[in-house]
Amino acid sequence: PLPSVQYMHYGSTIALYMTHSCSKLLEERCNRILRDMEGSLTARDRVGIQDFVLLDAYTSESAVLDNLRKRFNENLIYTYIGTLLVSVNPYKELGIYTKKQMDIYMGVNFFELPPHIYALADNVYRTMLTETNNHFILISGESGAGKTEASKKILQFYAVSCPSTKLLDNVRDRLLLSNPVLEAFGNAKTLKNDNSSRFGKYMDIQFDHMGGAVGGHILSYLLEKSRVVHQNHGERSFHIFYQLVEGGEEDLLRWLGLERNCQRYSYLVQVGEVGEVTYQHYSNLVQGECAKVSSVNDKSDWKTVRKALSVIEFSESNIESLFAIIASVLHLGNATFVADSQGYVLSPFTVDQAVYAKDALAKAIYGRTFTWLVNELNESLANKDSSRKTVIGLLDIYGFEVFSVNSFEQFCINYCNEKLQQLFIQLTLKSEQEEYEMEGIEWESVPYFNNKIICDLVEEKFKGIISVLDEECLRPGEATDMTFLEKLEEKMGGHPHFVTHKLADQKTRKTLERGDFRLLHYAGEVTYCVVGFLDKNNDLLYRNIKEVSVPRVLAGTVVARNLHPVATQFKSSLVGLTEILMSKEPWYVRCMKPNEGKQPGLFDDVLVRHQVKYLGLMEHLRVRRAGFAYRRRYEIFLQRYKPLCPDTWPNWKGTAAEGVECLIKHLGYKPDEYKMGRTKIFIRHPRTLFATEDAFEV
Ligand code: ATP
Ligand code: MG
Repeated sequence: PLPSVQYMHYGSTIALYMTHSCSKLLEERCNRILRDMEGSLTARDRVGIQDFVLLDAYTSESAVLDNLRKRFNENLIYTYIGTLLVSVNPYKELGIYTKKQMDIYMGVNFFELPPHIYALADNVYRTMLTETNNHFILISGESGAGKTEASKKILQFYAVSCPSTKLLDNVRDRLLLSNPVLEAFGNAKTLKNDNSSRFGKYMDIQFDHMGGAVGGHILSYLLEKSRVVHQNHGERSFHIFYQLVEGGEEDLLRWLGLERNCQRYSYLVQVGEVGEVTYQHYSNLVQGECAKVSSVNDKSDWKTVRKALSVIEFSESNIESLFAIIASVLHLGNATFVADSQGYVLSPFTVDQAVYAKDALAKAIYGRTFTWLVNELNESLANKDSSRKTVIGLLDIYGFEVFSVNSFEQFCINYCNEKLQQLFIQLTLKSEQEEYEMEGIEWESVPYFNNKIICDLVEEKFKGIISVLDEECLRPGEATDMTFLEKLEEKMGGHPHFVTHKLADQKTRKTLERGDFRLLHYAGEVTYCVVGFLDKNNDLLYRNIKEVSVPRVLAGTVVARNLHPVATQFKSSLVGLTEILMSKEPWYVRCMKPNEGKQPGLFDDVLVRHQVKYLGLMEHLRVRRAGFAYRRRYEIFLQRYKPLCPDTWPNWKGTAAEGVECLIKHLGYKPDEYKMGRTKIFIRHPRTLFATEDAFEV
């Protein structure tokens, strides 16, 4: 096993923890760092503290905020809480993701260098190799906080720094290039983020016993298909449409019958105001406008995607079909229906039904194409060798989001975030409590907000919002979005996290429309407009369109009953995801947004404080501190500190636990400073250990 030495800055002390025996080389490195640190200690006031666990006023939110702000102003966007990494989006290039930086962090112990996403990636990787077990990194934070960027940085770190062979170079390229492809098809500009993930992504990176990256597997979650046919003002459809129209080669566009002008495509042109669904005739299209994104270059992104598809070994004919399908969605969007039976294709649909059917078809085509794409990527990333592999999973989902009008999509996205928060709570508190229990240490639990109550409100069997929604979806013709709302009011009335216009007190009522329900999420209040909930949950294609491969006259509008409503499917896929994650060792990256304006250098105290609150950073910190900040196996503790006591030095004859007992008596530890467990000593405050470290110098 690798020796793991952790250095921590604290005033004029660096604490050195040893979890394994300390080699001469490491000893020297410690001394060097100690000397270096002394020189830079005055800088501490300026740059803050790199691990919140070491803050003196650790229970104060203001102290945490001050520390984050100090560091942010110095372009130090990363801070630890123990091994959890907090990251604040700088909204500018910092030059800290170079190959040189990777080399610096590679194989170096976690606390030896300033906090970095590479340090975390490296720590996970080496733990995986030494312990030969599976891990995952949960990256969370609201939309625009930097989750996708963080996951890309981690993947790049592995791709560049893991041992490679000629064969593995190929795997590495594919792993890296799967990103631009998936982003082109699954990301879009929203009001919150110019490159917002509109699907959830869990990616396993597989490693062989030598630590080489040998394969990967991607699971995707609920793509926001509705974006294909409608976007809110200031937002866009998926990047790929603009990339194709702006960047596609002349020949290709001619073949696809496309013009190089996004304005010509109804699905790319915004009509109507936020939340309002209106349809417009082709002739009026020029009045609409495509949202522009200055930070996105569709032309050059097209080239990247095109190249990536080749490297990933999509066949030319598959690539052609892929773009033909994308083009067909654009053409479909431009089909119009006029209520005139004279000489037109005869249809039993009304104009509205026809438009609905057309949009449903476009969404279905796009959704299935996305699924196909993920399958193809998996095919290409698959490792055919059956030898035992360990994995590091990366979870990067759509972040919590609140718009002025929120619909079914936000409901699903925010529910997903709620579930992950629940997982975080369970894992962080659970593992901590288990350790105390195993060691026979009495544990005084830290109060925290458990969002299980909100998860239940949404997903509970027979009772939750999703169940009510499904029930209503089973009453076609009778149920409407409004009857759904009424049922919710009946069942959820009085729930502390649920309110509607009807249920609200007078003051709150003013802030709600009649068609709204509001949930008090762990991350804040969100008001959802029920319009479209039933339709979107049903996600129906008229049966005859579904069977379009068997051409027949559009007779009868039989609606296929959907046995798998969207929200319920999503719920079970999240259960599956939770199971996958629970079987692995967790690591966390908590991403934060410094301001709402995507601005560099701007630290909005109110906004950040809010995130510190709901991300549970304070509770996490308190659990780490109120319990026992540090613990070491008796053998290791004794080995390190036995020179400090004449009775234990040079050799202790009894058991390690007795040795430690003797040692700390000599050092004068007070009873409330430590606890003796079955195999480990638990030290409440780092201060105690720092003092012990200082004793070496006396
Ligand atoms: P969503 O939930 O909407 O998908 P997200 O958390 O994935 O949001 P990102 O797409 O990762 O957010 O980040 C939004 C933008 O912020 C990026 O496009 C980039 O401009 C900037 N950004 C994020 N992280 C960094 C970073 N470490 N350095 C520089 N810029 C960053
Ligand atoms: Mg993202």
